[in-house]
Amino acid sequence: MFTSVIIPAAGAGERMGTPVSKQFLLLQGKPIIVHTIERFQACAAIDEIIVAVHSSSREEVELLVREYRLSKVSKIVEGGRRRQDSVWNAIRHLDPHAEVVIVHDAVRPFIQQKIILASIDKALSDSAAVVAVRAKDTIKAGNDQGRFERTLDRSVLWMAQTPQTFRKQVLIDAYVHAGRENIEGTDDASFVERLNIRPAIVEGSFDNIKITTPDDLEFAEVLARRFKD
Ligand code: C5P
Repeated sequence: MFTSVIIPAAGAGERMGTPVSKQFLLLQGKPIIVHTIERFQACAAIDEIIVAVHSSSREEVELLVREYRLSKVSKIVEGGRRRQDSVWNAIRHLDPHAEVVIVHDAVRPFIQQKIILASIDKALSDSAAVVAVRAKDTIKAGNDQGRFERTLDRSVLWMAQTPQTFRKQVLIDAYVHAGRENIEGTDDASFVERLNIRPAIVEGSFDNIKITTPDDLEFAEVLARRFKD
């Protein structure tokens, strides 16, 4: 079975407040994006990796692929304005043999092999699978006047992460539908849900953080010291 990975890495990193996009910041002396790609490079189930980047970072990523011998990176494609535009452009470049497609954020370097494999298994049985963790805090819906409107039922709330893994045709159908209906979303599974498909939950780990702000980077250095896979 041919399994492809799409890594959207075209975010500008505005929340980090640095001139370098967050995926290129160093973690233990190595760019975050390299750590992330290495998780998939090391996984025997993965056949190709497609990375979506801003045109200004293409050369840098090409150099990193060579320097760190990331031989499964088959294509570096142009990212878009929104995350979904970056993912769509990568979908258009998938190997024709791909059966399963994993989408994983460039800024989540602490993904474990066993969770990648569990998400592939679930995608095969259920068409779509989302790695997620249970909400620990009480989640409330706020309004634009700085007040809470209501409190959501925590027992059904999950925080969606990546990987999000799909049978290829399901992901394509979802993106085509989202494009046609002008649907915007911050993750891939939300487009699949709009086709009335209910993605399976794969319980993940709180270590699989998305490095978004400067505090995340400090925490990531701590996690990196104890990360074992
Ligand atoms: O924007 P967010 O923090 O959710 O980004 C998650 C991932 O999506 C990051 O790896 C980022 O580089 C990527 N992204 C992208 N294209 C965009 C925006 C975000 O590839 N236009």
